[in-house]
Amino acid sequence: MKWGCIKCGTEIPQDREFCDVCEERQFKKIRGFLVLPFASLFLMGFIFLVEITGFFKIITLNYNNLTENGKLYFLISMFIDSVMFLFITYIISLFIKKKKTLPKAYIGLIIATIATMSFKLYLYFILLSPSSIGYNELVPIFRNILSAFIWLPYFLVSERVKRTFVN
Ligand SMILES: [Zn+2]
Repeated sequence: MKWGCIKCGTEIPQDREFCDVCEERQFKKIRGFLVLPFASLFLMGFIFLVEITGFFKIITLNYNNLTENGKLYFLISMFIDSVMFLFITYIISLFIKKKKTLPKAYIGLIIATIATMSFKLYLYFILLSPSSIGYNELVPIFRNILSAFIWLPYFLVSERVKRTFVN
């Protein structure tokens, strides 16, 4: 029996699924799908930048009006966000170079995002003692936890990911 490419039927060795042409096409699709997490890196970076400038404005314009706890909260938050921003730009560079370390680094970023968001909320609670913590503070954290359930398994087990990040 002849052994053919699944897509086009061209004869190929038995240990393969696709001929060279179709395999190349498959890989283009793979890269296409990874556009989603790649784009979300830029979105995250942008959100952090907006937050950093927001904190910076509060600190510089209102420094004398802030309580000690307020200063502490905004300075620590700005520092955390700046570190996260650098982390994101580093991961974007790993992505572009298709580094083998990318999947683990991306997972690290997802976990770090949830951890730092929770920590900032905790700081907000103990330093500024708001009367309540509501919907607006908790929703972004839940949203990140939800997307972690999608992307953690994907980056851990996906054959596509393994075959894209090979450098
Ligand atoms: Zn083919």
